[in-house]
Amino acid sequence: MHLITDLVKIKQIAVEKQAENDHFQSFLKNQNEKEIDLLIQGLNDSLTPQIDCTKCGNCCKSLMIHITAEETDQLADHLKISVDQIKEQFIEQSEQGQMILNTVPCHFLTNTSCSIYEHRFTECREFPHLHKPHFIRRLFSTMRYYEICPIIFNVVEQLKIDLEY
Ligand code: SF4
Ligand code: SF4
Repeated sequence: MHLITDLVKIKQIAVEKQAENDHFQSFLKNQNEKEIDLLIQGLNDSLTPQIDCTKCGNCCKSLMIHITAEETDQLADHLKISVDQIKEQFIEQSEQGQMILNTVPCHFLTNTSCSIYEHRFTECREFPHLHKPHFIRRLFSTMRYYEICPIIFNVVEQLKIDLEY
């Protein structure tokens, strides 16, 4: 499959395919969860390495990133500033009382790439979560990012082909 990574084009296609994608989600909910997980994980392994996140950075413009105390310490170490400074400059509390980055787009995004890439947070590393089981249970949250994430977009489009949808 020819991969599409142009963000403007992906957004346009997402608008055109809105009804198709709503239907596809209903279709997936009736499929075998383990079989879909195997397909998704296979597509994730084959397609994701072909997409360069450092030339995209689109998720960093819209995700709310949760951070742990350990990650705060590691970031302070890396940036050579105090944990208090990290908290003051970069962190706020979510409504649920968890620590989150205080800006969207993220402070650490420079053009399309992460300025702390080697030290980025677990939530950043795990997005878009296609390596995890229970894809069908996370359909709603995954498809929210279909229009902004080339990885999700291409994996979902190839999944349609593989399932002869
Ligand atoms: S820390 Fe880096 S990878 Fe994570 S949201 Fe910010 S720019 Fe993106
Ligand atoms: S995870 Fe998706 S949205 Fe984020 S940088 Fe990679 S391709 Fe872009």
